[in-house]
Amino acid sequence: MADQNKRLDSNVSGNFYVDATCINCDTCRQLAPASFEEVGDFSAVTSQPTSEGSLHQAYQALLSCPVGSIGTERGEPVRMQEAMASFPLHLEEGVYYCGFNSEKSFGANSFFLEHPDGNWLIDSPRYLKHLVEAFERKGGLSHIFLTHKDDVAEAEKYAAHFGAKRIIHRADLEAAPGAEWIIEDVDSSQILPEFQIIPVPGHTAGSMALLYKNRFLFTGDHLWWDSKQQMLRAPSQQVWRKRVLLDSLQKLLDYRFEWVLAGHGDGIRLSAAAMQSQLQALIERRQPARMPS
Ligand code: SF4
Repeated sequence: MADQNKRLDSNVSGNFYVDATCINCDTCRQLAPASFEEVGDFSAVTSQPTSEGSLHQAYQALLSCPVGSIGTERGEPVRMQEAMASFPLHLEEGVYYCGFNSEKSFGANSFFLEHPDGNWLIDSPRYLKHLVEAFERKGGLSHIFLTHKDDVAEAEKYAAHFGAKRIIHRADLEAAPGAEWIIEDVDSSQILPEFQIIPVPGHTAGSMALLYKNRFLFTGDHLWWDSKQQMLRAPSQQVWRKRVLLDSLQKLLDYRFEWVLAGHGDGIRLSAAAMQSQLQALIERRQPARMPS
């Protein structure tokens, strides 16, 4: 629950505000970019939402903030309920953004995937009655894909409730030692029709991407979209091995996909050809500088 006494001076005056407990995870800026911006080390409300659309997004951000740093001076219960009901948020073709990002994964995004042979969760949101019931209405969960050790959050609770199999790479197993399906491979594997696991070590030793339907690439913290710069990005800090990360980026050139859906950072949909160009440009930017001969 946000505290008006901790309201940051960087907020514009008005109903919505961010308080000093913000961990600068970016969730609000992704969900409601018209209202929230990064100011210094925190997010702030730089434009009060006034239209129906921007108000809805601001309440979605309030609900998804992992540490409850977003508050309002006066509550609007109906708008809050409408925002709550919008989660999980449908993106396309049975792929949803869960919302309710968890502090345990530093506010990482998680996704729900509706499939006739069993639904999937990709990384974990907070364990919340609203989401549990929403997943139940859609037929529960059969698999929980864990992109890497940092974004496991409350996967164990979802696995226990739904009898779902957690999938994690052996090299990141410390984060989910009881996982039901451990990936040992370094090569990609088609584990089920339409589901391909692509190990992408670099950020962590056990980072993996999940390619679904040759359209959706769930990347964890390996790759994301920077909407300000309009380009793909990969981590340059908190990297297990930089050379390995570059090899893992290169590996993705072998695949066709249109969506990048990341744990941290924006998601994006481009044409498959534009995505390839973006990826190629990222790899070129990340090549080590050559020594003058
Ligand atoms: S979602 Fe919450 S913690 Fe994350 S940047 Fe916004 S206000 Fe800060």
